Amino acid sequence: MNPRAHSLAADSSIKSFDVVVIGAGFAGLYALHRLRDQMGVSAHVFDAASDVGGTWYWNRYPGARCDIESIHYSYSFSEELQQEWTWSERFASQPEILNYLNRVADRFDLRKDIQFNTRITSLVWDDKNKLWEVGNEEGIIARCKYLIAGTGNLSVAKKPDFKDFEKFKGEIYATGSWPHEKVDFTSKRVGVIGAGASGIQAITEIAKEAAHLTVFQRTPNFASPIGNEPLTPEAVKQVKARYKEIRTKSRNSFGGMPYDKALPSAIAATPEERRRVYDDCYWDGGFRMIFDSFQDLLFNKESNDTAAEYIRAKIRERVKDPKVAEMLTPKGYPYGTKRPPLETKYYETYNRDNVTLVDIKSTPIEMVTEHGIRTSNAEFELDVIVLAIGFDAMTGPLLSMGIIGRAGLALNKKWADGPHTYLGITTHGFPNLFFITGPQSPSVLYNMPLAIEDHVAFATDAIRYLREHDLDVMEPTQEAETQWGALVDSIAQKTLLPGTDSWYTGANIPGKPRVCMIYLGGAPSYRKICADVEANGYTGFALDRTAAIAA
Ligand SMILES: Cc1cc2nc3c(=O)[nH]c(=O)nc-3n(C[C@H](O)[C@H](O)[C@H](O)COP(=O)(O)OP(=O)(O)OC[C@H]3O[C@@H](n4cnc5c(N)ncnc54)[C@H](O)[C@@H]3O)c2cc1C
Repeated sequence: MNPRAHSLAADSSIKSFDVVVIGAGFAGLYALHRLRDQMGVSAHVFDAASDVGGTWYWNRYPGARCDIESIHYSYSFSEELQQEWTWSERFASQPEILNYLNRVADRFDLRKDIQFNTRITSLVWDDKNKLWEVGNEEGIIARCKYLIAGTGNLSVAKKPDFKDFEKFKGEIYATGSWPHEKVDFTSKRVGVIGAGASGIQAITEIAKEAAHLTVFQRTPNFASPIGNEPLTPEAVKQVKARYKEIRTKSRNSFGGMPYDKALPSAIAATPEERRRVYDDCYWDGGFRMIFDSFQDLLFNKESNDTAAEYIRAKIRERVKDPKVAEMLTPKGYPYGTKRPPLETKYYETYNRDNVTLVDIKSTPIEMVTEHGIRTSNAEFELDVIVLAIGFDAMTGPLLSMGIIGRAGLALNKKWADGPHTYLGITTHGFPNLFFITGPQSPSVLYNMPLAIEDHVAFATDAIRYLREHDLDVMEPTQEAETQWGALVDSIAQKTLLPGTDSWYTGANIPGKPRVCMIYLGGAPSYRKICADVEANGYTGFALDRTAAIAA
């Protein structure tokens, strides 16, 4: 008797699928569509949320919007979808992106294969039967041959570690798990902890409503204008007529946006030329300042200094009080080595009478009290605390799932000193497991819907290949993984990123190993490497046939 058939029949309450996908954001939705509708494979999605959307389901804070242009920050896999959907703004707000993902779920009838309100806490590889056992708090709920983790890079919030946090008697909100109902800040004294990308978006909006807003900032950021505006019908028409060309151009650019004006070197340009380029990129918005000005900003400190100094000067121009401007001015790390936030009148927010900035690097938060926050030199009475303290990025979502691979190897143990992967999508010792936009891939430095489509295509094409070749186990070799890690590291060392404390390097989480978690060779070179691996029959992977075992 087939032992696998026996084990699956043993407990009929446990469902079996060819593929289980975890997450119903951009990644999980596309994976389900591709597997089920294009490959005819049985696939099922689990998500802890109560509906689709991923990032855009959870991050409902005021001001939340994408910072890559909507027409690029969207799926490219369906020309019909591209033609049917119309973005209203250059940078869509959270409700519009969530509507879009809901529309995708409806259009492709995806919800019927998604189980919501289900947090996966255990994923165990059954080596005998060559299956993954998928479990939640209550035990095993599914078995599958292939596992796709579409759990995102920014879906596990950093835990607040402020002393006596639970004693606060007012309202507490976190940007990454915002209530579905509108939060009313009118006449309230609000404290926002954190001034990164989410904090900057929220601060600008909350300041307009609150009686008083106190911002507790640890590290100032190099923020620049987003340049948001409504999209005119004419602009939309032009984009829709050229979508194919735009997507090709995006995929052939370093960060996955169709920018093509960057000059080779900031330091090689004349001061006048630099000024012209920076003025153009700064005010036009989006990520043009970092990706479309000069190609060497992330590689050459001297060049980087010219952009950093330009942004610092803009902060001093825009903030009236020189002391506040100084506190908001980033120093000690190069521009772009932390994700540069994009803003709309963020710096002008500090010119308002109802906004106070507190530097918690020099005067740290000592404790949270019943009535507010006490720093080392003052007490701030508050009605509301908003946490915008960031994420346990990149590895956090994967490491929180209790993943156990071959021979009882725990992913947490294997990655105790940082992530080890092959191509940033698989890891040795964990067969048939694919993680979408995982650590050591271009991930967060690539326009993510496109990065996600590339990875979903890679994972699902691999599954198709295995099925067509009567193979069923795929696992990267140790050698391929070691070589990939060395390549990722050697490229990172040529850039300015490893030296900065950021979530790119894990330095925002106490005790997390400090290692640059991004493939920094750019999307085009990464895509070529993956295409070559595929074209050559999955070089770097051990492929196995288990029919003999199951017989
Ligand atoms: C505020 C904000 C703005 C952003 N803006 C941009 C932008 O402009 N451009 C860009 O490229 N990227 C942006 N990002 C990154 C963004 O995360 C990605 O663009 C994209 O949404 C990721 O999609 P995903 O499906 O991979 O993951 P997510 O959207 O994070 O979805 C992951 C899903 O997995 C679920 N999940 C996780 N763990 C488990 C578990 N153990 N069990 C069950 N379910 C689980 C979560 O509930 C979630 O629904 C932004 C991120 C944030 C937080």
